[in-house]
Amino acid sequence: MRTQLTTYFARLFAGDLSAFGGPVTDEAVAGHIRAEQMALVLGYSVGIMLGNACNAIVLAIALWQSPDRSSALVWAAAVASAAIAFGLQSRAARRITKPQFVSRRAMHRLVRNAFVLGAAWGIVPVAFFADASAGGQLVITCLCSGMLAGGALAFATIPIAAIAFTAPIFVGIAICLGRNGDLAFVLIAFLVVVYGSVLLRGVFVNSFSFARRVTRQIEAERTVRLDPLTRLPNRVAFNETLEAALKRLALSGEEFAVLLLDLDRFKEVNDKFGHPAGDEFLVQVASRLQRCTRAAEHVARIGGDEFALVMANLARPEDALEIAERFVAAFDEPFRIEGRQIVGATSVGIVLAPRDGSAPLDIMKNADTALYRAKKAGPGTIRFFEANDDKVSRDRKALQSDLEGAIARNELFLVFQPFLDLDQSRITGFEALLRWQHPERGLIPPSEFIPIAEETGLIHEIGEWVIRRACATVAKWPDEIRVAVNFSAAQFHNAGILQIIVQALREAKIAPHRLEIEITESMLLSKYGLAEPVLNALLQLGVTVALDDFGTGFSSLTYLRKLPFSRIKVDQSFIRDMLVQRDCAAIVKSVIGLARDLDIGVVAEGVETADQLEYLTQIGCDEIQGYLISRPVSADGVLALLERGKLRATFAA
Ligand code: C2E
Ligand code: MG
Ligand code: MG
Repeated sequence: MRTQLTTYFARLFAGDLSAFGGPVTDEAVAGHIRAEQMALVLGYSVGIMLGNACNAIVLAIALWQSPDRSSALVWAAAVASAAIAFGLQSRAARRITKPQFVSRRAMHRLVRNAFVLGAAWGIVPVAFFADASAGGQLVITCLCSGMLAGGALAFATIPIAAIAFTAPIFVGIAICLGRNGDLAFVLIAFLVVVYGSVLLRGVFVNSFSFARRVTRQIEAERTVRLDPLTRLPNRVAFNETLEAALKRLALSGEEFAVLLLDLDRFKEVNDKFGHPAGDEFLVQVASRLQRCTRAAEHVARIGGDEFALVMANLARPEDALEIAERFVAAFDEPFRIEGRQIVGATSVGIVLAPRDGSAPLDIMKNADTALYRAKKAGPGTIRFFEANDDKVSRDRKALQSDLEGAIARNELFLVFQPFLDLDQSRITGFEALLRWQHPERGLIPPSEFIPIAEETGLIHEIGEWVIRRACATVAKWPDEIRVAVNFSAAQFHNAGILQIIVQALREAKIAPHRLEIEITESMLLSKYGLAEPVLNALLQLGVTVALDDFGTGFSSLTYLRKLPFSRIKVDQSFIRDMLVQRDCAAIVKSVIGLARDLDIGVVAEGVETADQLEYLTQIGCDEIQGYLISRPVSADGVLALLERGKLRATFAA
């Protein structure tokens, strides 16, 4: 029984209210609750202390005529000056920013102070009541009841402090009343006990709901800073960490690094295996990344597949590189997701502060630039920001703004590269390839400006221009010749695209089957949604669709069966290596076999040598495209090629 009581008391003293019906908290939350309690008490402190000083002076005046006058005066002076000193001290403490965590020790100090003050008031009824005049006794009674109520109010969220303050006063009153046998005093004693228990009960109830409120608030603040999927800090938390690092840099010159990560080909994981698998992939990536950092640092997920880390107190740039290398190495092992093995990789951009910037915007912009360069160098690459990078990003911006007016200034044009039918040795059509003649930089290849157009949304306008121009051009060619147009994912998932195609066909007055749309595998299932409805609508129009660069994405043969393609274009990487690497030959051969079974045409891309042509003829490829037949030519060059094409022997040779 006694040990139980002591543990209850120990818990109360530690601020743990769970044993009394309050919420269960861990030490971090408890420290936060203590900080809020302390802030409340400090908020009242000046009032409390002024009240104490005032009461002490009133008591001294009331006891002026009593035989205890001199001791009462000493007592009042001590209490009043201590109260004023405490008040001033806590006022100063309040000015400093409110802490997020207050230790148990600090709380114990508060409880001790409350006890000392309570004890000072507890002395009053014991020492001065008996010899006081009737008026003095009335004043003492009023003061003691006032102090009890005031103390309970001031410490309304901290039961142990409320007890520490009121208990000595209760004891003092009890001693004082007990010494006098009068029935009225016994009745008063009874009342004091009732009031006291009501007060204490109120303090407990209030403190429970206060603790619950603070816990909920902490929980809410945590969620705002937490990525719900990976349980890592999110962008909000990351920005705060960055701000804090910048503050320390300004105050003490502490250098730091920011590592920015972007998963390579994450989109394809999502597209190929679906979003639940993509989510699982991110969760596993997050836990591997978190294992690479120093103990006190946390990787944050700041975007879909973007992660970032602030490395504080950086002694050498090599330390940042070391962590970046660990991040990259974390992807060495494939991920096991839903029974499959998925290979991932990440690129990392690193900036050092203050060397590469000392404002959040600069730092993040430069980290982006470094990351961009890393990504460009291939999966699993790490790059530090270099002052030169700034130029790269400025160039890119300039290119972007130039591209905006490129159509209006007539700087875009199409070139055409033929498809040769191997059976008939004749040209069946041309692929339209976009070019940009920049007034200063000269000819810019699509690999450089199409990604910019995609990022900025300019691709819609450009794509529409390409379709119209291709249709208008093919109208001048013989009827049996088709034109193939490349599409970007964003374009393909634009609701208005069908309308645009219908209009272009109508304006050029060409049959729909003469237009072919080339899409890549990764576009089939992308963040824009399923491609199937658009594909079917195109087919209903009579437009044909080819699967471009087959084999480079997550090729799924099931797409071929499910979706209505009229042609597959085997990627040039397979054709290039087909005669040197056995597995490439096997892939090309089996794709051709599969396409034949499914009654789909096959085009081999990038045919450059006569040997390749011969092998492809042997294994039954339908059409080829490549420098061996012709490089892309201008619209005028097309008619010349077609003329030449009439002499079948040219190509057959
Ligand atoms: P793609 O659709 O796979 O186009 C084939 C690319 O391979 C073309 O490069 C072509 O010039 C090149 N090529 C053709 N034969 C050979 C060969 O024998 N050897 C080698 N080494 N290369 C060959 P280009 O014109 O630079 O186009 C690159 C990519 O840009 C295209 O790949 C396509 O994805 C994209 N693109 C081109 N025009 C457009 C367009 O109008 N819209 C969109 N969205 N993308 C386009
Ligand atoms: Mg193409
Ligand atoms: Mg291609």
